[in-house]
Formats: sequence, C-alpha cells, structure tokens
Amino acid sequence: MQNPHTINADLHCHSTVSDGMLAPRDVAARAHAGGVAFWALTDHDEVGGQREARDAAEALGMRYVPGVEISVTWAGQTVHIVGLQIDPFHPGLIDGLARTRDGRARRAQDIGEALAKVGIQDAYAGALRYVGNPDLISRTHFARWLVDEGYCATISDVFSEYLSDGRPGFVPHRWSRLAEAIGWIRDAGGIAVMAHPGRYNYTATQHDALFDEFTQLGGRAVEVVTGSHTPDQFRRYADVARHYGLMASRGSDFHGPGEGRVDIGTLPPLPSDVTPVWHDW
Ligand code: AMP
Ligand code: MN
Ligand code: MN
Ligand code: MN
Repeated sequence: MQNPHTINADLHCHSTVSDGMLAPRDVAARAHAGGVAFWALTDHDEVGGQREARDAAEALGMRYVPGVEISVTWAGQTVHIVGLQIDPFHPGLIDGLARTRDGRARRAQDIGEALAKVGIQDAYAGALRYVGNPDLISRTHFARWLVDEGYCATISDVFSEYLSDGRPGFVPHRWSRLAEAIGWIRDAGGIAVMAHPGRYNYTATQHDALFDEFTQLGGRAVEVVTGSHTPDQFRRYADVARHYGLMASRGSDFHGPGEGRVDIGTLPPLPSDVTPVWHDW
C-alpha cells in the first residue's frame, strides 16, 4: 500500500454552490490538473454540489470524498468545522445545514445597510450579482463586488477594512453550535475536522477549551496543512494534533483562480509525525 503521506489529498475547496468562483465540475477539473488523488468539495453550509462533484471526480479517476464546511459560533467567534466522508443525503445533516443557512439573506441586507452608513451605496444589490446560490450569500460576494467597484485593491483588504469583526460592515451573526455541527456530521457517518485553527483569535485558554470540547464531542481531526496556515503553523498544529490524539487533514481552501494564497493540490505534504485523516481510506 502507498504511504498515505505521499498521496496528494486536497480536502477543502469551494464552488459556486457557496462562495467559490467555479462550478463543482470545474473545481474537480482543476484539482485533477493539480495532481490531486483524493479530493473533497466542502462548500459552506451546503451539500447541493456533492453529486456533481462526485460524478466529475470519478470521471477523472480521482477518489471523491463527500464534504461540507459548517459555520459555528463558539465563544462569540465564528469557527468552521469541516465534515468529511459524510452521507450528503442524510436528512438530519440536510436539515441542520438549512437551519445554519437561514438568516444569511437578512444578514446580507444588514451588511448592505451598514456599508451604506460609511458611504458605500447599493452593496447588497451588488453582492447579489456575484451569488451562485441564492441561499448562500456570503461576505466573500460583498468582497468581490467591493474590489471590482474599486473600493479596495484586494479581497483581503476588504476584510480588514470593512468586513471583519469590529469593522464598519461587520454584522454579528449566530451560526450553529459546535455540538450541533459535530452531531450532524457524525450522524451522517462523517468525520468532523477542525478547519484552519490558526485563523481564530482566541486566547490560549480558549484555544485549549475549544480543542477539549471538540475532542469530547467526537471531533476526530484538525487541518494542519491548509492555505490559511504559515509553515510555522503547520508545525504548531501538527503538535496540537498529536497532543489531542487527532488525525491531520490537508486542504487548500481554494475559492477561485488567483484568489487566496494557494491553488488546489499545491500545498506541502503533512508532517511525518501525524496520522493523515485519509490513512485508512
Ligand atoms: P461568511 O460565511 O459569509 O461570514 O463568509 C466567510 C468567508 O469569507 C470565508 O469562508 C472566507 O472565504 C472569506 N474570508 C473571511 N475572512 C477573510 C479574509 N481575511 N480574507 C479573505 N477572505 C476571507
Ligand atoms: Mn469561504
Ligand atoms: Mn473556513
Ligand atoms: Mn473554506
């Protein structure tokens, strides 16, 4: 059997079904072109792209891993939990995701109003033009419109100037609870993975409490090598994985060509002292 560390697995990507720029079949083609062997499409709070992703991946000879990325509120901040090897047709998961998406439309209108107060008119209508799935309007759609309208040079500038917590276009939102998200994933036969932990702004105590709770609730893996982490964070979260007895995952968090730091399938391999989440697939 091949050493699992040498398999090019990319288990975190987005399509137009959430806030990505390419249709699921086109993300599959890009993953295949990037040399990916195990691939998961993990749209935010939505499994509507899973069938297309699976069909496209299998036609290209890639091993498809059904996935999702669920938005959770924990200690007042947003945490993302990836579910891998889920049954995307599981009614409890589908119902939970529908409830998680609920409120995005209202929040988007509120973001539009908040931006109007700082002189940016018609942002809601603008963002809507970038949306592929009307149930899934995201801050990313606002960010793309703001860049194209010339308000900011990059998506990342939009977040730091307008859309991050504490900035004028930020609208607080309550997502799912950690226990719910992990429960839906487990009920659907999947593995819950802590997404890009290096992005969260928790104190050291909160960070440990988050991992304690995640592990107690049945969370099984953590993203170690992700497009959101620096090489120092690859090392740090490999240590966290071993400390909590979690498996390690790898994923670009690809959203679109030229957007974000890394393309699909191009990240370095996992450190050798962790167990890949795909080791027994
Ligand atoms: P939402 O689920 O609507 O709150 O939007 C969250 C999405 O915004 C994430 O999935 C990322 O795609 C994007 N995002 C959040 N923070 C940043 C950032 N600092 N730079 C670029 N994209 C970001
Ligand atoms: Mn996103
Ligand atoms: Mn995320
Ligand atoms: Mn993501």
